[in-house]
Amino acid sequence: MPIDATLPYDETNIFARILRGELPCKKVFEDDYSLAFHDINPQAPLHILVIPKGPYVSWDDFSARASEAEIAGFVRAVGQVARDAGLVAPGYRLLANVGLDSHQEIPHLHVHIFAGKKLGPMLAR
Ligand code: AMP
Repeated sequence: MPIDATLPYDETNIFARILRGELPCKKVFEDDYSLAFHDINPQAPLHILVIPKGPYVSWDDFSARASEAEIAGFVRAVGQVARDAGLVAPGYRLLANVGLDSHQEIPHLHVHIFAGKKLGPMLAR
Protein backbone atom coordinates (compact mmCIF):
# COMPACT_ATOMS: atom_id res chain seq x y z
CA MET A 1 0.00 0.00 0.00
CA PRO A 2 1.32 3.47 -0.79
CA ILE A 3 2.06 5.68 2.19
CA ASP A 4 1.10 9.25 3.00
CA ALA A 5 4.40 11.16 3.13
CA THR A 6 2.94 13.76 5.50
CA LEU A 7 2.61 11.24 8.34
CA PRO A 8 5.16 11.23 11.19
CA TYR A 9 8.15 8.89 10.91
CA ASP A 10 7.30 5.27 11.74
CA GLU A 11 10.19 3.61 13.61
CA THR A 12 8.86 0.16 12.69
CA ASN A 13 9.28 0.55 8.92
CA ILE A 14 11.41 -2.05 7.11
CA PHE A 15 14.33 0.26 6.39
CA ALA A 16 14.47 1.44 10.02
CA ARG A 17 14.68 -2.23 10.98
CA ILE A 18 17.48 -2.82 8.47
CA LEU A 19 19.35 0.20 9.90
CA ARG A 20 19.00 -1.23 13.43
CA GLY A 21 20.32 -4.59 12.23
CA GLU A 22 17.02 -6.35 12.93
CA LEU A 23 16.60 -7.38 9.29
CA PRO A 24 19.32 -8.42 6.82
CA CYS A 25 20.26 -6.62 3.64
CA LYS A 26 22.75 -7.13 0.82
CA LYS A 27 24.89 -4.12 1.68
CA VAL A 28 26.97 -2.36 -0.98
CA PHE A 29 27.97 0.84 0.88
CA GLU A 30 27.84 2.38 4.34
CA ASP A 31 29.21 5.53 5.94
CA ASP A 32 28.16 7.87 8.76
CA TYR A 33 25.14 9.22 6.90
CA SER A 34 23.97 6.57 4.46
CA LEU A 35 23.44 2.88 3.76
CA ALA A 36 23.07 1.30 0.32
CA PHE A 37 21.85 -2.22 -0.43
CA HIS A 38 20.35 -4.28 -3.22
CA ASP A 39 16.60 -4.05 -3.75
CA ILE A 40 14.92 -7.31 -2.74
CA ASN A 41 12.76 -7.29 -5.89
CA PRO A 42 15.00 -5.79 -8.59
CA GLN A 43 13.34 -3.91 -11.44
CA ALA A 44 16.58 -3.74 -13.51
CA PRO A 45 19.72 -5.91 -13.77
CA LEU A 46 21.21 -3.66 -11.08
CA HIS A 47 18.78 -2.10 -8.59
CA ILE A 48 20.28 -0.51 -5.48
CA LEU A 49 18.55 1.52 -2.78
CA VAL A 50 20.39 4.30 -0.95
CA ILE A 51 18.90 5.50 2.34
CA PRO A 52 19.93 8.15 4.84
CA LYS A 53 20.58 6.87 8.37
CA GLY A 54 18.41 9.57 9.91
CA PRO A 55 14.64 9.17 10.41
CA TYR A 56 13.18 10.84 7.32
CA VAL A 57 9.90 9.75 5.75
CA SER A 58 10.63 10.99 2.25
CA TRP A 59 12.60 13.38 0.06
CA ASP A 60 10.18 16.09 1.21
CA ASP A 61 10.89 15.45 4.89
CA PHE A 62 14.66 15.09 4.32
CA SER A 63 15.01 18.24 2.23
CA ALA A 64 13.06 20.23 4.85
CA ARG A 65 14.60 18.90 8.08
CA ALA A 66 17.99 17.25 7.49
CA SER A 67 21.20 19.06 8.41
CA GLU A 68 23.57 20.37 5.76
CA ALA A 69 25.99 17.55 6.66
CA GLU A 70 23.30 14.87 6.28
CA ILE A 71 22.21 16.27 2.93
CA ALA A 72 25.75 16.57 1.62
CA GLY A 73 26.63 13.13 2.94
CA PHE A 74 23.60 11.48 1.37
CA VAL A 75 23.95 13.15 -2.02
CA ARG A 76 27.63 12.22 -2.14
CA ALA A 77 26.80 8.64 -1.13
CA VAL A 78 24.34 8.23 -4.00
CA GLY A 79 26.99 9.43 -6.43
CA GLN A 80 29.69 7.27 -4.92
CA VAL A 81 27.60 4.10 -4.97
CA ALA A 82 26.93 4.58 -8.68
CA ARG A 83 30.55 5.49 -9.40
CA ASP A 84 31.88 2.50 -7.45
CA ALA A 85 29.55 0.21 -9.41
CA GLY A 86 30.97 1.54 -12.70
CA LEU A 87 27.71 3.08 -13.77
CA VAL A 88 28.74 6.55 -14.90
CA ALA A 89 29.88 5.65 -18.43
CA PRO A 90 26.99 3.31 -19.30
CA GLY A 91 24.55 5.50 -17.38
CA TYR A 92 21.95 4.94 -14.71
CA ARG A 93 18.63 6.28 -13.42
CA LEU A 94 17.79 7.75 -10.01
CA LEU A 95 14.26 7.73 -8.65
CA ALA A 96 12.70 8.72 -5.34
CA ASN A 97 8.99 8.22 -4.78
CA VAL A 98 7.24 10.66 -2.46
CA GLY A 99 3.81 9.86 -1.10
CA LEU A 100 0.55 8.52 -2.37
CA ASP A 101 0.48 9.41 -6.07
CA SER A 102 4.04 8.12 -6.55
CA HIS A 103 3.13 4.83 -4.83
CA GLN A 104 5.91 5.18 -2.21
CA GLU A 105 5.62 1.97 -0.19
CA ILE A 106 8.24 2.31 2.54
CA PRO A 107 8.08 5.43 4.72
CA HIS A 108 11.85 5.98 4.97
CA LEU A 109 13.52 8.03 2.23
CA HIS A 110 15.18 5.83 -0.37
CA VAL A 111 16.72 6.69 -3.71
CA HIS A 112 16.54 3.90 -6.28
CA ILE A 113 19.52 3.38 -8.60
CA PHE A 114 18.53 1.46 -11.74
CA ALA A 115 21.18 0.29 -14.21
CA GLY A 116 22.56 -2.56 -16.26
CA LYS A 117 20.52 -2.23 -19.44
CA LYS A 118 19.08 0.45 -21.69
CA LEU A 119 16.34 1.74 -19.43
CA GLY A 120 14.22 3.40 -22.10
CA PRO A 121 12.04 6.48 -21.63
CA MET A 122 11.44 7.49 -18.04
CA LEU A 123 7.66 7.09 -18.10
CA ALA A 124 5.45 4.70 -20.09
CA ARG A 125 4.21 6.38 -23.28
P1 AMP B 1 9.05 2.45 -3.13
O1 AMP B 1 7.87 1.95 -3.92
O2 AMP B 1 9.75 3.61 -3.81
O3 AMP B 1 8.69 2.76 -1.69
O4 AMP B 1 10.12 1.29 -3.15
C1 AMP B 1 10.27 0.35 -2.12
C2 AMP B 1 11.30 -0.65 -2.59
O5 AMP B 1 11.79 -1.34 -1.47
C3 AMP B 1 10.77 -1.69 -3.59
O6 AMP B 1 11.54 -1.63 -4.78
C4 AMP B 1 10.95 -3.02 -2.83
O7 AMP B 1 11.30 -4.09 -3.68
C5 AMP B 1 12.06 -2.68 -1.86
N1 AMP B 1 12.14 -3.48 -0.64
C6 AMP B 1 11.12 -3.83 0.17
N2 AMP B 1 11.57 -4.55 1.22
C7 AMP B 1 12.91 -4.65 1.06
C8 AMP B 1 13.94 -5.27 1.78
N3 AMP B 1 13.69 -5.94 2.93
N4 AMP B 1 15.20 -5.18 1.32
C9 AMP B 1 15.46 -4.52 0.17
N5 AMP B 1 14.53 -3.91 -0.57
C10 AMP B 1 13.27 -3.97 -0.14
